[in-house]
Amino acid sequence: MIITNKHRRFWIPLGVFLLTIWFVLEGENKLAFISFFLLFGYIFFIVLFRSETLEEGVDYSNGLPVAKDESLPCHTYYGEELNFPDEELTEILTKHFPYFNSLPADNKPIFLKRLTRFIAEKTFKVYDDTVFREMPVLVSAAAIQLTFGLEKYLLPHFQFIHIYPQEFMRSNPVLCLLEGNVSGRAINLSWKHFLEGYAKPTDGQNVGLHEMAHALYYQTFIVEENIDKNFRDQYSNFRTDANKAYHTEKTIYGGLYSEYAEKNFQEFWAESIELFFEKPAAMNRNYRQLYASLRSLLKQDPLTSNQ
Ligand SMILES: [Zn+2]
Repeated sequence: MIITNKHRRFWIPLGVFLLTIWFVLEGENKLAFISFFLLFGYIFFIVLFRSETLEEGVDYSNGLPVAKDESLPCHTYYGEELNFPDEELTEILTKHFPYFNSLPADNKPIFLKRLTRFIAEKTFKVYDDTVFREMPVLVSAAAIQLTFGLEKYLLPHFQFIHIYPQEFMRSNPVLCLLEGNVSGRAINLSWKHFLEGYAKPTDGQNVGLHEMAHALYYQTFIVEENIDKNFRDQYSNFRTDANKAYHTEKTIYGGLYSEYAEKNFQEFWAESIELFFEKPAAMNRNYRQLYASLRSLLKQDPLTSNQ
């Protein structure tokens, strides 16, 4: 997942352009010149750096996920040895995970049980000297959130969860920076961006959910093992409704999705998940059918049951 914001890219030059006109009309030629120069500089910057913006990442090859930077420390934790007591999980989730707080009381023990099981199945590698106990808990909780309505939730193809302190490097096919991706048998995340996703639970951006959506798709349709049958069967309905929304988003300006989501259908899927959980009302308003098909696909409804 990368950060692009088509609104920002559009509004900044428009604002500066209007400011330039206003200065000209007011006879403030010096200021008009300065703002024109800024506008020119901004456009030049965009043109120059556009092709080098962060590239993601659904690398469905079996290669190594990232450029192996030998200078990075690496701490390995085997989930089966972590043994978090329920009280500690609850404390961490209550503090940082709004989704857990919004669950009905009788669903919370189920969430904890699934979370414990998920953690036990994974190997966590943290590429930083500062390791937080929240790391395996919260990253795993993102997977449990996405799959909470499904029967199968362990994503067994993804044995490894790699956590980087911030954006990390990938060298293949081109050198670029990532805030998250899935690759080979690993789900890779920038801890900084992951936390931001949950610190702002209604802005429609959540890299944890985004990457878990890629992982779930991969587990179901590429690996085709340990499949959740409901999910697989319902996915074609989602695809039909999503295709319509995808084309609408491509033709209108300032839609619900980011420019990045229009890159390909995989990104559209992952961003649909982010919006479903973080902006359910807006999604339901703009694309009612799409919202309904996601609700049946994931068997949960952020608008009513647990938000
Ligand atoms: Zn993506």
